[in-house]
Amino acid sequence: MKDITIAIDGYSSCGKSTFAKAIAEKLGYTFIDTGAMYRAVTLYALRQRLISGAGVVNGDGLRAALPLISIRLLRDAQGGGNTVFLNGEDVTEEIRLSAVSDNVSRVSELAPVREHLVAQQRAMGQQKAVVMDGRDIGTVVFPCAELKIFMTALPEIRAQRRYLELSAKGVQTSPEEVERSIRQRDAIDENRAVSPLRKADDAVLLDNSYMSVEEQMEWVLKLATSIRSSQP
Ligand code: C5P
Repeated sequence: MKDITIAIDGYSSCGKSTFAKAIAEKLGYTFIDTGAMYRAVTLYALRQRLISGAGVVNGDGLRAALPLISIRLLRDAQGGGNTVFLNGEDVTEEIRLSAVSDNVSRVSELAPVREHLVAQQRAMGQQKAVVMDGRDIGTVVFPCAELKIFMTALPEIRAQRRYLELSAKGVQTSPEEVERSIRQRDAIDENRAVSPLRKADDAVLLDNSYMSVEEQMEWVLKLATSIRSSQP
């Protein structure tokens, strides 16, 4: 069967990465978490004080720094996720901190940042056999992907899932705070001028508000198999 590119886009915290990782593992494909790349750039910007306390990004400063930022995603030995390196340092845990989550959408709005990362993502996926998740994979990065999925779930359900995840990691927060952060991120992602979050016309919609991961997997694997076997 032919290898294909699977693009998974959608809202924050609707389980895209977990889902994408599981599909990649099942198909023996490479999983690429593009959100982790935007998060790594955000961490760099925070460390270099290119983001003010009020969340204003120094766009010129960050654009000038882009050639100094090297991001590498390495496949985890276990679980098939991505270990994320920023200039050689493992930042896999740090990019999930709320300081990064709260600022990443402002960094992702900047055209030079997007151009820089999209070029890397295209290079990483050029051999096909990839499952890439993000916000603009089906619309911008791989508009010709053979399978495009747009994931969503009710905001309160996404917030509850994320809250449970953070609590399990010992992060002190509240469901209300998590929902606020998610809604804010979605609003910026959907309304930005460059590559806004939107469903590609030919993407299939997956609302997983009331679906288990197993149900989602069964659905997508059937779809992937039928697309792969119909490839010339
Ligand atoms: O997927 P994750 O929630 O980790 O993504 C973090 C942020 O990175 C998103 O809210 C969005 O602002 C940005 N992003 C993006 N384009 C992508 C992936 C992520 O703008 N392809």
